[in-house]
This record gives sequence, structure tokens and C-alpha cells, in this order.
Amino acid sequence: MQLLINGLSKTYSNGVQAIKNVSLTLNEGMFGLLGPNGAGKSSLMRTIATLQEADEGSIYLDHIDVLKEKTAVRQLLGYLPQEFGVYPKISAEQMLDHIAQLKGISSKGERKELVGYLLDKVNLYKDKRKNLGGYSGGMKQRFGIAQALMGKPRLIIVDEPTAGLDPAERNRFYNLLSEIGENTIVILSTHIVEDVSTLCSRFAIICQGEVLFAGSPDEAINQLDRKIFSKVIPKNDILKYRQNYNVISAQLKAGELLIRILSEFDPLDGFTSTVPNLEDVYFTHIGSKVDINTV
Ligand code: ADP
Repeated sequence: MQLLINGLSKTYSNGVQAIKNVSLTLNEGMFGLLGPNGAGKSSLMRTIATLQEADEGSIYLDHIDVLKEKTAVRQLLGYLPQEFGVYPKISAEQMLDHIAQLKGISSKGERKELVGYLLDKVNLYKDKRKNLGGYSGGMKQRFGIAQALMGKPRLIIVDEPTAGLDPAERNRFYNLLSEIGENTIVILSTHIVEDVSTLCSRFAIICQGEVLFAGSPDEAINQLDRKIFSKVIPKNDILKYRQNYNVISAQLKAGELLIRILSEFDPLDGFTSTVPNLEDVYFTHIGSKVDINTV
């Protein structure tokens, strides 16, 4: 199965162009959509999920015209939106049973089996009778994945699923997502670089509605080979360094700053050649579009 997005654009009625001529090819496996807040990730995902229209361009899921054949897409789709409300006074088991009914599974026995299987998969089986209102953020996200997995979808869209999770919850969520990948296209949007490096075999960097890079994390990192240099500097010198070098990140470390710069040649000046990472890739691309002065 393949998702082919071609020349997709969308401008909202307030004039914001959220998607600008986006073209992407997604195969089975986990695809990361990485970009800062407001980049257009949710807009793109909602469009793929048949929840809003595009102005221009096309999306095909194999031979299905996504922008036209909405019902056909929805039958293959599992979607976890960025913010989803839960009915606080209903248990996970009741809610999933209800969703299974909506998906057309009429046999009570079949539903019970499916709901039990999904609850077990997201590690909520023992909490299945608790009301959803009493679930932690991580539990709610795992419940969200359970509902998105209902009906064996071939295309799963999860919008910023790790935002707001603590590190342990995020880890559990990573493990869960990494089990889905095969035979399914999973699109995961995030502003967290680690989400991509942990989970995704391919990804795109998106900013101000535009795709700035698409490929594999290794490919992206290799492009920066021998071009990243780092140095610890006094905090107050940062402006001087920003004027003289292409500073892509600056991180406070015990009162001093560790800066990383992008340079085609060895800048000397006390810099050390450094192995590039995905964060460098991200900041290099994003920095060309927006001001990333973090300090
Ligand atoms: P992301 O998911 O990357 O944070 P969004 O797709 O939510 O980005 O937003 C992209 C841009 O479109 C932002 O500038 C946002 O304010 C704007 N936007 C999003 N949804 C709407 C809407 N329904 N109406 C008008 N503007 C919107």
C-alpha cells in the first residue's frame, strides 16, 4: 500500500496558507512528520483523514482518490487526533465496544473478543472497567491508539501523540507504536526529534506549510557529515558567535553554552568536529525558515 500526495495546497479563509504545494510518497511503515507548532502538520493530517478539503493537488491511497472517495478511505483509516475528548463517565471497555458497533461489528461475542484483544495490546486490560475520566495522559493516549486500531486499518494517522506524556509514558507509547508498523502506513506527526529517531524509517521536515526535507534519518544525518562543529562558550558571547557562524543550536550547560554550528570547512577557533545527529538536521532545515535563536 502506498500513499501518494501530489502538489497539495490549502489556504484557510483567514488567509493562512497552511499547506504549500506538498508532495510526498509514503510506503508501509512508520513515517514521521516533523515540524514546529503551526507548521501545517495537523492540517495535512486532517486532509489525509478526509476531514477537510484541499484547494489544490491530489492524494491517492493506492488507487483510491482520497479527496473524493472519502467513505472508502475511512474504512481503511485509523485516526488519533491531537486532542480528542473522552466521555469521562464511561469505561474504556464500554467505549471501545460502542466504537466497534459503529464500525459495524454486530456480533456481541466478536466485539468482546476484539475489545479484549485491543485493551490487552495497549496494556489497559486491567483498567478496562475504570472510567476514562480517571485515566492519566498516557493511559488516554493508549486508549486513543486502541480506538485507532479498531477494524485493522491499513492507514493510521496519529497527530502529536507524545506531546504531554512523561518520559516513562512516552517509552511505553513508543513500544506500542513500533509494533504496528508492518503492512500498515503509519503517519506520526511530532515536534519532538526523538520521536522520529526512535520510531521512523522515513520522515519529512515541514515548516510554514512546506516540505523542507523528505528521506530517511540516516540519509539526512549523512548529509551533515563533517559539517557540524561544537564549542563551549561563555553565555554572553553568543551574539558574537551568531554574527560570525551559522549557529544551529545553543544549549545551556552548567552556566555556559554548548553551541553547534554548521560549516563547510573547519572553523578552527577552538571548535571540535562533532558527529551530526537528527537534531542538527532539524535545526539546520528549520533555521533557514524561522528564527531559532533559543538563547
Ligand atoms: P501544526 O499541526 O503543525 O501545529 P496546523 O496545521 O495546526 O499546524 O496549523 C498550520 C497553520 O494554520 C497555523 O498558522 C494555524 O494557526 C493555521 N490554522 C490551523 N487550522 C486553522 C483553521 N481551522 N482556520 C484558520 N487557520 C488555521
